[in-house]
Amino acid sequence: MYFENEVIKDLLRLYRRVWALSHAMSVMGWDLETYMPAEGVEERSVAHAELSLMAQELLLRREFLEVLEKASKQESLNDYEEGVVRVLEREVRIAKALPPRLVEELARVTQEGRVAWKVAREKNDLEVFRPYLEKIVNLTREKANYLGFKEHPYDALLDLYEEGMTTRDVDTMFTYLEPRLRKVLDKVLSEGRYSADHPLEKEKYLREEAEKLNLAILEAFGFPLGKRARLDVSAHPFTINMGVRDVRITTRYEGYDFKRTLFSVIHEFGHALYELQIDEELRYTPVGSGVSLGIHESQSRFWENVIGRSRAFVNAFIDLIRLVSPARNRDPEDIYVYFNTVKPSLIRVDADEVTYNLHIILRFKLEKLMITGEVKVNELPELWNNEMENLLGVRPKNYSEGLLQDIHWSMGSIGYFPTYTLGTLLSSQIAHHMDRDLKGLYTHVINKDFQVIKDYLREKIHRWGSVYPPKKLLLKSFSETYNPEYFVRYLEEKFLS
Ligand code: MG
Repeated sequence: MYFENEVIKDLLRLYRRVWALSHAMSVMGWDLETYMPAEGVEERSVAHAELSLMAQELLLRREFLEVLEKASKQESLNDYEEGVVRVLEREVRIAKALPPRLVEELARVTQEGRVAWKVAREKNDLEVFRPYLEKIVNLTREKANYLGFKEHPYDALLDLYEEGMTTRDVDTMFTYLEPRLRKVLDKVLSEGRYSADHPLEKEKYLREEAEKLNLAILEAFGFPLGKRARLDVSAHPFTINMGVRDVRITTRYEGYDFKRTLFSVIHEFGHALYELQIDEELRYTPVGSGVSLGIHESQSRFWENVIGRSRAFVNAFIDLIRLVSPARNRDPEDIYVYFNTVKPSLIRVDADEVTYNLHIILRFKLEKLMITGEVKVNELPELWNNEMENLLGVRPKNYSEGLLQDIHWSMGSIGYFPTYTLGTLLSSQIAHHMDRDLKGLYTHVINKDFQVIKDYLREKIHRWGSVYPPKKLLLKSFSETYNPEYFVRYLEEKFLS
């Protein structure tokens, strides 16, 4: 038994109701993105807002706060119990810090802002979205002030997505990365092997064939389809967990360039596996799901890039890959190059392993300036375009392929982008440690022996849920925190040797 302390047990009993609400909201969220009829959106979002309020009220109820305070004063709690107290204190601190007026205003402005952003992007008309973005930035600056920070207002926002991460940490990592990524990119472009257009990128595929491939890969990975997991279709691929025994992923079939659906499935599998391998003793508790966005993304990127885009993977599954007609007569090396094309592009979500993080560096730079107020919203397009040209050598011709491309700002998710890069960095860091500890990571991939890889991830990351904050978990499992050197080495070995 992990939870033996009587006060902690009381706390967890009270927490169960909050858990149940979040379980219900996850089901509703999944349904919204998959099967709900289009016009149900309005009622669903009202229901969702009410349930969020209920969860908030439960957390801030006097009885709950009293037990939480008592719990925090208990001596000799074990790690699991301490984790519960840490996570709940953090949630309560955040909930208490923000005045209801601000929470309501942000909810309203982002709801309207999301609609405006969609229209603005479709029409390529920044003016439709600009007033909302201005409000969102101002409210977010207020939010940062209420949350509090030591050095930089952006710290307060980063911490919401990646507990304990600071602007200074990210600055250091990104300053290290930027010139090195540019150097790899320049070399890849001058050599041409990975940067040439690949014919399969334009070729159409049959949905049934791609579906077959996706399912076969999931089966090889040991994804418990039908038992504890589902794969469905949605406009944007995502993973959602109702609990440790019900985790669902989605993909989409665009009808051309079949690697897009394949890698979205492998990516989401990585997210799902994290949730599926959390220790069942942690169910119904506040530590029973993934600890941060960065750690979560490290799991998806590990499977997508380190495993899925490797030669070992292509060789192991070439027969399955050839089930998709466009790949039928292609040899493994050709498929490997197709899986790994590198091209400076304008759109983040289409970016490859080399250029992706440059898109994130751009957003991080702009977000910091927005939050300190050094840059006004109407100055953003010019800055965006200049920085894009500077980092990637390409310049957007319109807003839709420039600063209107991402949904994040319209939702008020400022401080979120860096976690994508943190995850990528960590994925190759984990690969390095795994390769050493398991005496050859890719030998297991070639043998399709994924159990040993899954067990390693379970032991080092998954089973702990949110028991430890991110940096502590990394220190405990790998004796170091986020370190960008592994990723640079990974890229150099992959693309330059
Ligand atoms: Mg992801």
